Parts: sequence; C-alpha cells; structure tokens
Amino acid sequence: MSDFVVIATWTFGQTAVKAAVPLLQAGKPALEAALAGAQAVEDDPKVHSVGYGGLGNSLGTVQLDACVMDGQTLACGAVAGLENVRHAAAVARRVMEKTPHILLVGQGAQQFAIQQGFPLETLLTPESVTEWEKRRPLANRPRELLGHDTVTVLALDRKGSLGGVCTTSGLAHKLPGRVGDSPLIGAGLYVDNTAGAAGATGVGEEIIRIGGSLLIVEAMRAGKTPQEACELAVRKVNAVAVRRGVHPAHVAFLALDPRGRIGAACTERTNFQYAVARPGSMELLKAKEV
Ligand code: ASP
Repeated sequence: MSDFVVIATWTFGQTAVKAAVPLLQAGKPALEAALAGAQAVEDDPKVHSVGYGGLGNSLGTVQLDACVMDGQTLACGAVAGLENVRHAAAVARRVMEKTPHILLVGQGAQQFAIQQGFPLETLLTPESVTEWEKRRPLANRPRELLGHDTVTVLALDRKGSLGGVCTTSGLAHKLPGRVGDSPLIGAGLYVDNTAGAAGATGVGEEIIRIGGSLLIVEAMRAGKTPQEACELAVRKVNAVAVRRGVHPAHVAFLALDPRGRIGAACTERTNFQYAVARPGSMELLKAKEV
C-alpha cells in the first residue's frame, strides 16, 4: 500500500482536498475521491467559476465544461456547454461509464444528464448575477480580467492508481458555445498511471494551443519531474505568446506522478495557489511563476 496524495487548483482547492481525503483514507479509488472533491466546489455558491453559482456567458447563461480520467484504464468522459445541471463532472463520469463516447456537448449533454437522473435547476444565484453585471464593462478586455478559475483535482490512491477531474463554468462573458480546455482530454486534464497526471487552469485557448496536460504527462514519461514538466509547459505558453506577439495569458498547471511527487507552475502574475493533502497534512502552496 502506498500513501495517498491529492492536489487541487486555487484556494478553493482546499474545499476539494478536504472532501477527497476521507475517501482516499478509506482506500477508495483516486477518481472517486477526485470527483467528490470537485463536486464539493461545484456545490459551493461562493465559487463563481465552477458549478452552481458560476458566472454566465455573454448572454448570462451558465454553460459548464468538465471531464474525468482514470489513470489505470485511460477511461475518460467529458461534457461541454452543459446548462442547468450543477454536477457537470459527475455527468462526465456517466459519459465515461455508460456510453461508448468521450465528449457530449450542449443539448445532447443535457438530455443525457436528464436520462441519467440529474435534476435541472437554475445555476445562477443573486450574487453570481451581480458579479456577472460588474464584469460587463470589461467584456472586451483581456480574458483573465473577466473572471475564471477551474477546479482541477488530481489524486493518487492507496493502491498507487491516479485519477483526475476538471470542472468549470469557463471564462465569464465567453461567447455562447465557447468551449475551453477543461473538458478536452489532453488539454485541461490527462492521467496515465504509467507516466503521471496533469491538469490546467487559466485562459483555456492558450492551454489548448499547446496541448498542455498531455505535454506535461509525456514530459514526465520522458524523465522530467512533475515540477520540471509543469515549468516546461509554461515556457511553451510563453514562447508561443512571443511568436504571436502577445503577452502570455494567465495559465497554470499542476502535476502529480505515480510516486506521489507534485509540481506546479504558472505564467507571470497569475498568482496561482493550490492545495495539497497527504495523510495527516494539508497545505496551500504558491506555484512558481515562469
Ligand atoms: N480554463 C478555463 C477555461 O478556459 C478557465 C480557468 O480555469 O480559469 O474555460
């Protein structure tokens, strides 16, 4: 039996790891624990970038993106542009378990969720509507000013298996139908027991452009530590920004390898923090800016 580790993005990652730890302690699989962690954040109305209470798109509609991945089997599932269902990550898991597909979008994703027994509800709260209104004048400014922040949870269970979950309402004021990195396997999340797990948060377009999470996992397979692999991905984001003649967007990566080693890195001024829990300890750490 190895010891467990769970890491999750941003300060609300503390909510996620707190929910995941009892399951990992009880010997449950990594994916199940990561999902419980992600769901605790989806349920928190104070978090305006994930699940219930998330910020709307340019029309004020909350459209959720999420995915899950199991490191043993590479089984994965995802939903994008899902409306009126708060537990987007759990729907993604059902896509993985109950269909031959990986990604369902929009109305199809919602119909599937209804068939699977998920209730429909409004995801807006009075506070999230106020926050959305406040950002309206910023709608044409750099995307990071509009409000975002995904919860990505990576876990290593006591059997030594990895699992990951990523769930978000995406960038506030995004165009209706816009899909970020978070539901895209290989961009917002990738998990493979034979190399490691990685997840992302920040401006999704820049994460997709470099295939962020798969890049990190393959760098770990090639011998990089999780920290080196995350820094390599951020350097790539920076290099691509130079080629495109723009400032690097806010982007951050997390990684966890099968030995329980962790890594985190972000672009300058992203101010990325993440929560880490192991048996008997929980910390909030600040990622290295690259
Ligand atoms: N990556 C998410 C997206 O682009 C947002 C975030 O994590 O900040 O939709």
